[in-house]
Amino acid sequence: MFPDMKILLIEDEPKVASFIKRGLEEEYYSVDTAKNGEEGLKLALYEEYDLMIVDVMLPLRDGFSVVREIRKNKIVTPILFLTAKDKIEDKVLGLDSGADDYLTKPFAFEELLARVRALLRRQEMEKSVQLKAGDLILDTQTHRVTREGKEIILTPREYSLLEYLIRNKNRIVSRTRLTEHIYDYQFDTSTNVIDVYINKLRNKIDKDFSRQLLFTMRGIGYTIKDDA
Ligand code: CA
Repeated sequence: MFPDMKILLIEDEPKVASFIKRGLEEEYYSVDTAKNGEEGLKLALYEEYDLMIVDVMLPLRDGFSVVREIRKNKIVTPILFLTAKDKIEDKVLGLDSGADDYLTKPFAFEELLARVRALLRRQEMEKSVQLKAGDLILDTQTHRVTREGKEIILTPREYSLLEYLIRNKNRIVSRTRLTEHIYDYQFDTSTNVIDVYINKLRNKIDKDFSRQLLFTMRGIGYTIKDDA
């Protein structure tokens, strides 16, 4: 279920448009409709949507051109093409113009719904780049780490260690697993190299803050506690 998801539907055939709109609204999506390419493009550029469904054959401006214009404006919202033709060149042209998926008419509503869900899921996953432990925030795209809003500069290896610990937060991670994670080759896990990195990391993320996040579980491993 994706509550509060807003979908733009650009489709000129009234019957098809109302069939799709009604079906999506029954699934709790909110749907705006446009019945030609110009109107659709205007909405796409000025309103915010989580997904757009665009018919290829449209009056005033065809679907390919609408999508190319949307992408030219750096709008990355997922787009599903609806095409009446199942000619291979149409599909290629559709995906080349910047759509993420296409569906050939006539289609079963269930199939449309499955594709809508898949595209929204993909979108959600790409959006969720922030990992958190207490007031520590790690951005997995920029590798920026902050705590209480202050930036913390980490080496790539410290970052990798911290990301792994946060992904496993509130669980104890053994020294062996950590070693295997930061080295891609066989490493003598009896050495204390991980302890050295952990100490450096602790100095950076915990030392100047009132609440401790990184704990040593003596003889077992390490853990980041979210709710200590
Ligand atoms: Ca049409």
